[in-house]
Amino acid sequence: MPIAPDELGPLFRTLFGGRRLVVVSNREPYEHRWAQEVGEIEVQRPAGGLTSALDPLLQALGGTWVAWGSGEADADTVDAEGRVRVPPESPAYTLRRVRLTQDDVTHYYLGFSNQFLWPLCHLRPALTRIRARHWERYRRVNRRFAEATLEEAGGRDAVVWFHDYHLALAPLLVRRRRPELALAHFWHIPFPPYEIFRLGPQAGDLLRGMLANDLMGFHLAGFADNFLRCAQQIAGAEIDWEARTATLDGHVCHAGAFPISIDVEQFRQAADAPGVEGQMERLRARYAPGGGMVGVGVDRMDYSKGLPEKLKALEFLWERYPEFRERFTFVQVAVPSRSDIEAYDELSQKVDRQVWEINERFGTADWRPVHLLKQSLPAERLAVLYRMADLCIVSSLQDGMNLVAKEFVASQTDGRGVLVLSEFAGAAEEMEGAVLVNPYDPEGCSLRIREALGMPPEERAAAMRRMQEGMSTIYDWMESYFTRWAALV
Ligand code: UDP
Repeated sequence: MPIAPDELGPLFRTLFGGRRLVVVSNREPYEHRWAQEVGEIEVQRPAGGLTSALDPLLQALGGTWVAWGSGEADADTVDAEGRVRVPPESPAYTLRRVRLTQDDVTHYYLGFSNQFLWPLCHLRPALTRIRARHWERYRRVNRRFAEATLEEAGGRDAVVWFHDYHLALAPLLVRRRRPELALAHFWHIPFPPYEIFRLGPQAGDLLRGMLANDLMGFHLAGFADNFLRCAQQIAGAEIDWEARTATLDGHVCHAGAFPISIDVEQFRQAADAPGVEGQMERLRARYAPGGGMVGVGVDRMDYSKGLPEKLKALEFLWERYPEFRERFTFVQVAVPSRSDIEAYDELSQKVDRQVWEINERFGTADWRPVHLLKQSLPAERLAVLYRMADLCIVSSLQDGMNLVAKEFVASQTDGRGVLVLSEFAGAAEEMEGAVLVNPYDPEGCSLRIREALGMPPEERAAAMRRMQEGMSTIYDWMESYFTRWAALV
C-alpha cells in the first residue's frame, strides 16, 4: 500500500521522536521576486517534484529548510539572521536563506558543481573544467551552508537531511562540531565508478565530506557500490560489502539504494481532469494535423539526455521506413538549462541544427516531422501531452533515475502509449514493460522505435499496466529512506 502524503509527518515523529528536521539543499522552496508593479514583491514556488513533496512534510513538522536565497527580492524579505517563515500565506516552518554573491554562483554552482561534478558523475570527464577558483568557492559555500545548518540545529537534537552534489563537503563540517547529530545525504545524480571519480583532484575531500553522514542514499545499488569502492580506494575507508558500510576514523556511513519516484496521483489526476480530452484533440490537430501517431520527448537541454542521439535515431526511422513519414510526428520539449555554460549552448545549437535538417529533409507542405519546444511546461500541461502521446522516448546517455519516464507512465490513463527507455537511465531497472534502447546505437534504436510503433493495442495496454502497478511514489521513497535512517541513529 502506498503511504499517503499526510501520513509522513506522523511517521517521522514516530521514527525520530521530538527531533527537529533540517533539510539542506541548493534550491529553495520559495523565492521572492520583484513583481512588475514597482514596489511589489511576489512569491514563486520553483517547480520540482522533490520540493513539492518535501514542503508539506516540513509544514507538518515545522522544521527548517536551509537553501541558497536565489530570488532577487529574497534578501529583502528575511530577518537579520536570513530567516523567513513560509509558506507566506500560512507560515508553518522556517526557510533559512544562504546568501550567495554572483562570484559564488559562478564558481560554486556553475563552476565546480555543474562543470566538474555533473559531467564527471555522468561519465563525461572530457567535459569537466577543473579550476582552482571553482574548488575554492565550492569549499567556501559549503562552509557557509554548514554554518547556517549548525545555527538552525541550535542546541537541539536535530535530524539533518542534505541533498545533492552541491553540498558534498557540508556534512563533515557539521559532524566535526556536532558529532551526535543524525546526518543523511541523498545524491540525486549517478555516482561514477572509481576509475572516473578518481580523476578529480579533490576526490578524497569530497568522499570524506560524504562519509561523515550516517546514511548516503543513491538511486541504484550500483551507484552505492561505486561510492563504497571510491571510499575504500581513495579515502582509505574500511568497507563491509555485505552491510554496505564504509568506516572512516571510527565513523560508520551506510550506503543504500533508494530509487526516487513522483507524485503518481498528481499526474494521474491531471491527465484525467475535466477538459483534457478537448486539449488532447487540439494538441493532435496542431502537431499531427494529418492524423497518425505522435511521439513525445521531455528533457532539460542537457548533454546527459542524449538529444542528438534521439534525433539521429528518428532520422534513421524516417529514412529507412518511409511509411512513417507523415504518419508519425515527434514533439520534443527541451527546457533551456545552464545556458551560461559553453557545452550547453553548443548542445542547444546542435539540436536546433539537427531538427532543422530533419524537417528540411522529410517535411512536406502539410507536415513537420519534429516540433521542438524550447520552453518549460507546468506539470498539468505535461500530463496532457503524456496522455495524448502514442510513444515517449527517453534517450539518456546516463541518468540517475529519469522522472519523465515515470510521469509518462502515471499519465497514461488510457494505456495506449509505449515507453521507449534508455537502458542507461536509472528508471530502466524498475520499468518492466518499457522498450529498452541503447541510445549510443541510433540504428538499433530506430528499429526498436519501429517495433514500438507497431505494437498491438493489447500488448501496449498490458505493458503499461505492468509498469503502473509496479510504480511506487515519492512518498514511499521518503518512507523507506526515513525508516532506514532511523534504524541507524
Ligand atoms: N519538467 C517540467 N517542465 C518541462 C519539462 C520538464 O516541469 O517543461 C520537469 C519534469 O516534469 C520532471 C523534471 O522536470 O519532473 C525532470 O526530471 P528528470 O529526472 O527527468 O531529469 P532532470 O532534469 O532532473 O535531470
